[in-house]
Amino acid sequence: MDIIIKTGFEKIIHDIQFQPETVPKGTALFNSHHVINVEEHRKSGQSLWIEAQVIRQTSVQATPYTTKLDIDTARKVVDVSCTCVYNQSRKCKHIAALIYYVNHEESLSKTDYEQQWGKPSQRQLLQQKYCKGKYFSEMFPPKKNSTVIQCNKVEVSELEGSSALKLILLESEKDKDNKAIR
Ligand SMILES: [Zn+2]
Repeated sequence: MDIIIKTGFEKIIHDIQFQPETVPKGTALFNSHHVINVEEHRKSGQSLWIEAQVIRQTSVQATPYTTKLDIDTARKVVDVSCTCVYNQSRKCKHIAALIYYVNHEESLSKTDYEQQWGKPSQRQLLQQKYCKGKYFSEMFPPKKNSTVIQCNKVEVSELEGSSALKLILLESEKDKDNKAIR
């Protein structure tokens, strides 16, 4: 039976001689979440290959590269393939990125968790503060009975002359405010 594993990968080993700059480039792809849809394919309990899509660094809109590692029963990489043009040497950074992903997947999940749920961003904090209207009401607690008049003062006084309109506006604003308060 075929099984596809998408998380909790066991470590893999390899003896690919990457260029010195390739491994950090692969790690950077991993860190920027460019390695996606990682799948380990097993047949009759034996792991056969691991494949993934790697989003291009230069164009996130373009079709991601498909990167694949064939592994043996000792979880050693025995063959690789990648759809990028740099993989004639079979040592491209996408291969390095996928190997790094499989061996460091835990750190990715942890980072994700912290970024998305653990620590709200400055913007989220500000949004919360303003959306709930806490900020202003806490700084300027409404005075009894005079709230409506105070709120409308500036807006309505911008209307010059038309006192009838002013009155209507004042009344409608009063209603609105009363409803909002209740
Ligand atoms: Zn590649």
